This record gives sequence, structure tokens and C-alpha cells, in this order.
Amino acid sequence: MSEENKQMTTGEVISRYGVRAQKKYGQNFLTDRNVLQKIVDVSEITPEDTVLEIGSGTGALTGLLCKNAGKVIAVEIDKKLIPVLEDVLREYDNVRLIEGDVLKLDLKELLKMEEKSSIKVVANLPYYITTPIIMKLLEERLPFTSITIMIQKEVADRIKAVPGTKDYGSLSLAVQYFSKPDIVLSVPPSCFIPRPKVGSAVLKLGIYAEKPIQAENEELMFKLIRGAFNQRRKTLVNALCNYEGLELKKENVERAIEILGKKPAVRGEELSLEDFARLSGLL
Ligand code: SAM
Repeated sequence: MSEENKQMTTGEVISRYGVRAQKKYGQNFLTDRNVLQKIVDVSEITPEDTVLEIGSGTGALTGLLCKNAGKVIAVEIDKKLIPVLEDVLREYDNVRLIEGDVLKLDLKELLKMEEKSSIKVVANLPYYITTPIIMKLLEERLPFTSITIMIQKEVADRIKAVPGTKDYGSLSLAVQYFSKPDIVLSVPPSCFIPRPKVGSAVLKLGIYAEKPIQAENEELMFKLIRGAFNQRRKTLVNALCNYEGLELKKENVERAIEILGKKPAVRGEELSLEDFARLSGLL
């Protein structure tokens, strides 16, 4: 690569354009080149792929994505960073930069032209809205084949958690219903400018083309999951019967739990995804 084409480091972009990280947007820019490369490697991006990047920041990851993907759609909320990104990415003709809030964007509309290619999400997410972004990507049934994201380590652990552990909850179940999660790398605060207060991890979600567990009634299953973990310390029967939005009769819940083969005082955290899927059918 010629000197001219060599991508500037995050530190160089920050000082050349006078970028000031905005806390309100969760701006912790990734500086470590090995970590940036690792994110691209585990995403297994090919020229046939379209990549959706959420939160391009100073463009460190975006540039690498442009080198590997057929097309990159990069969303950034901070309008001050748009001219920086335009300049940093000027050598790439396969990037579409969108100024906007990913939570408000109509992603289906945005991606409808891309349906012929495989669409992957790759992002170093803003931590203040990690969960709503993940849920939007999964629940809107968008045609992604994988989602590779940097998130807080603690949230990655919750997503991967199994029944009966303290980390297990509605987020684990919701993500595991749609995808197979894998923590591929732990990343210390020293890899970012400014340093976040928490440890981070790169998580890859392999989206199921066909879900191994299919709920008879998905909407009810997700309500049951929310109800079960809304009051974690209660028995499942009490948690579900007290949950607003679920109008269930106690004897029906007790009977369904018995059919599942669980003891009457079982708590939600002891139920697997398969149990919740069956419960939605029984109720
Ligand atoms: N990708 C860059 C990197 O790896 O250095 C920046 C990552 S930084 C953790 C998160 C980025 O998401 C910031 O640039 C921030 O401005 C942007 N962001 C925050 N909220 C957003 C939102 N609602 N929609 C789109 N981008 C957002």
C-alpha cells in the first residue's frame, strides 16, 4: 500500500480534525489496529457482502470494511463527524454514509436494494443503547446473516448465559432465539480513546436461517419471558400472574408448568428457551 493510501490511525484523525469525543453519544473510538483487524476477520466479509456499520465515529473500522466488502452502509448520528468521515473515506467509492439515529431509521427500507447480497452488521456499538439496537436488529426480521459487535463485556456475558446462572435473563433468551452468540475477543479499556469505564468484548451472532426452536406464539413467548424476569425472585407462577399485560389464570399457569415437568415453585431462571417456547403453546 502506498503511503498516500495508508489509513490514518484513530489518534491521527482525532488530532488532524480536532475531534472531541462526545459522551452523550457513547463515543469511545477504537485505536488498536489488531482489534480492528480481528473484528473484520471474524465477520468473514467478502466482496459479495453488504455491510451495515452502526456508529462509524472517526472511520477506523469503516475504512477496513470498505477494503473487504462489496458495499458499506455506514450510519453515524453525530453530524460533526460526517465531514470528517467524508474526508477520511474519500478514496472509497463503495461506501454510503448516512447521518441519523439508527434507532429511528427504517432499516428495511434502507436495505431493500441490497437483498441480493448477503448483509452483515459490523459495529463498535455505542454502549448507552446496546440492548435496543440489538433488539431492533433481531426483532425487525431484517435479512442479516451475521452481526459482529463490540459491546460491554458484561452485556456479552448476559447474552451468552445459560439457565440457572445469575446472568441469565430476558436478553439471553431473546438473542438466543434468533441467533447463536459467540464471544470472540475480550478487549480492555486501553484499546480506546477515551477509555471506557468498563471492559468490552466482541460478540458474533450467527443468525439462524431456520430457528432450532420455534415458538407457537412468539409474541406470547416474549411476554412470558419479560414477565418471568420482571420479578426474578418470585416463583414463575406468581411472576406471570402478577405481570401486567398477561392476563393469565393461576390454575392454567400451574397446569402448564406441571405439563412441562417442572416443580410448582420453579423460577423463571430455571426454564430453558425450549421450555418458554412450549409454555407459550400451552398457554
Ligand atoms: N466505529 C467507531 C470506532 O470503532 O472507533 C466509533 C465507535 S463509538 C463506540 C460509537 C459510535 O456510535 C459513535 O461514533 C457515536 O457517535 C455513534 N452513535 C451513537 N448513538 C448513535 C445512534 N443512535 N445512531 C447512530 N450512531 C450512533
